[in-house]
Amino acid sequence: MIAGVAPARLRSFGAALGAQGASMRPDLPWRLTRDPWAVLVSEVMAQQTQLARVVPAYEAFLARFPDALSCAAAPVGEVLRAWAGLGYNRRARNLHAAATVVAEVHGGTVPGALDDLLALPGVGPYTARAVLAFAFEADVGVLDTNAGRVLARAVAGRRLGDREAQALADAIVPPGGGWACNQALLDVGSLVCTSQRPRCDGCPIAARCAWRAAGWPAPDPAHRSAGVSVPQSTFAGSDRQGRGRLVAALRAAPVPTSAVAVAAGWPDDPERAARVAESLVAEGLAVRRGDLLELP
Ligand code: SF4
Repeated sequence: MIAGVAPARLRSFGAALGAQGASMRPDLPWRLTRDPWAVLVSEVMAQQTQLARVVPAYEAFLARFPDALSCAAAPVGEVLRAWAGLGYNRRARNLHAAATVVAEVHGGTVPGALDDLLALPGVGPYTARAVLAFAFEADVGVLDTNAGRVLARAVAGRRLGDREAQALADAIVPPGGGWACNQALLDVGSLVCTSQRPRCDGCPIAARCAWRAAGWPAPDPAHRSAGVSVPQSTFAGSDRQGRGRLVAALRAAPVPTSAVAVAAGWPDDPERAARVAESLVAEGLAVRRGDLLELP
């Protein structure tokens, strides 16, 4: 029994989810491939960026870097250029580092074993399992914020801890159904079982939802459940915004030290701009060449 639910019922839930959630799937290009490099790229891009922005960037990125070998062979700066518009540029640096490990350790092929995936830079439990499920069609549970919310509400009907949520995500996957079940779980979580106002009338698993069956008692089972994140801090005025502006400027051309404050958007705060520039250098997102700051 996991979360108080019998294994057969969990697999039945996962099978129904995969079948009934099929019609929800948007026509996302990475759902048409089983190429693990393409799936890895899509998952890294989609983690913190809206899908509308990810789709064109994903297609352009794969046209430039169709496999891990081509990405590993390029300078980090080229990967950062291809990351334009996506934000959170550390992900581009990590993806380049992951491609390098894939090239050097795995002969250029993204591995299909959990431990090998987890050993890639920037690849955590969610991304590793997403690659297993969506590229290799493995029967593993993919747990992110959206999936954790659905599992807490619909399956357990109560708050879930970390290990319990992952165990539950694994347990609902029916044999051979890892791809469809996980895609549907993520879709239900992102499209209807949203954090503030779940749209239960349009939910394909409403008839099987424990929280709905109980009459939506307070507190919401998703509240502080495993995998359910807190909102991000405000972007406007943050260091993150300045970093983004500075990297955007570096994509166009090297920036002289005297122009860093303007490029970061803080012409009256050169100390803050210099600190942010140093953080980019420390993280391998920029290099100094004489008086110039530029992409690696
Ligand atoms: S019925 Fe409502 S609460 Fe239950 S999974 Fe669907 S959207 Fe979420």
